[in-house]
Amino acid sequence: MMMPAGLLLAAAFLVPSEVRQGRVIRVSGPATGEGLSAEFGTKTFPIFVHGGVAQAMIPVSVDQKPGQYEVIFRQGKTELQRSTLTVRKTAFRTQNIQATKQMKELRPIPGEVERMQALAATVTPVRLFEDAFVPPVSGCQNSPFGVQRLHNGKPTGAYHRGVDQRGAQGTPIRAAASGKVVVAQPDFQVRGGTVGIDHGHGLTSHYLHMSRVIAREGQGVKQGEIIGYVGSTGFATAAHLHWGTYVHGTPIDPNDFVALRPCAAPQRKKGR
Ligand SMILES: [Zn+2]
Repeated sequence: MMMPAGLLLAAAFLVPSEVRQGRVIRVSGPATGEGLSAEFGTKTFPIFVHGGVAQAMIPVSVDQKPGQYEVIFRQGKTELQRSTLTVRKTAFRTQNIQATKQMKELRPIPGEVERMQALAATVTPVRLFEDAFVPPVSGCQNSPFGVQRLHNGKPTGAYHRGVDQRGAQGTPIRAAASGKVVVAQPDFQVRGGTVGIDHGHGLTSHYLHMSRVIAREGQGVKQGEIIGYVGSTGFATAAHLHWGTYVHGTPIDPNDFVALRPCAAPQRKKGR
């Protein structure tokens, strides 16, 4: 059957039919040139070409209203395709943290919040990451992504922007995927020893509460390379790794990149 080239293009981007809150929409299509973008909700995201394929990750935030949306693909200002996508609700639980007086008095040092926010919003057009991530530590997940946090029984209005993985003090922490180290800070006050990696295409990963930081800022890292060691520095009640993944500045459940094993019994004490 003969079809005009425009129509072929128009049906060419692959989009999942549904996605859950706190997860990523992965789209791919033919690399038709520069200036490809995808609009979702109120934002427009760049589409990158890698290995001859146009690809993009579109974040769906924890508070994105469930329902039906359109993803609109464009090249420059020309609309190429509209796809419908259903956002499904994720059931996020609440979790209380018994914070000590000392923990409650912790304040971010100058630049701590700003540098991590800037990293999360970094969009490098080069792709450095692998499709399959590796867990940074082998320990089970004892605090899931997206839980509503309470401190000493009082709602904080904040949700958990990553996962906590169990790990003994001094356990090596490995880069979940290849990338470039943008932040390597041994002494953030709230986050503690912190490493932040840019993986390209708007994806970054953040590792907190380290006892020791090994990675150096500006250095390239390979997937699985040791970047630091588990600790309980900053706002933490016990040794663990807080690991966050961000896509275009939006926190996304790291389980979207590698499935983590939940701990069997719920833990009473949790870090941040
Ligand atoms: Zn955490």
